[in-house]
Amino acid sequence: MKKIEHIGIAVKDLEASNEVYAKLFGKQAYKTEAVESEGVKTSFFKVGKNKIELLEATKEDSPIAKFINKRGEGIHHIAFDVTDIEAEIKRLKKEGFIVLNDKPKKGADNKLVAFLHPKTTNGVLIELCQEIVS
Ligand code: ZN
Repeated sequence: MKKIEHIGIAVKDLEASNEVYAKLFGKQAYKTEAVESEGVKTSFFKVGKNKIELLEATKEDSPIAKFINKRGEGIHHIAFDVTDIEAEIKRLKKEGFIVLNDKPKKGADNKLVAFLHPKTTNGVLIELCQEIVS
């Protein structure tokens, strides 16, 4: 793993939260994107070298909706940048982590992503992401 790629925050209302975080950072989100397959709308802010992702559920049974129902708004996941996501998945499975999707899937912000079950990472949802080079 190379570095933290971004921190994901689950929000109830993306538009309202975009305003809050734009005030906080002193600038607007640099992109907003829906990921239909995950049932989310996302926005991304750059803060120096770091990124913050806000996520709002677009379906009631999406993971973000379930998270907010259970735990309320707040930090949802930490994403780490990896060079070879398939190799990382293999390595982490061997180490005993539960990978939620064995096959990397297309996530927001032009990334291939995979998630580790929080049960095996002390309650923290970990996202692996690899930039898609086109
Ligand atoms: Zn993310």
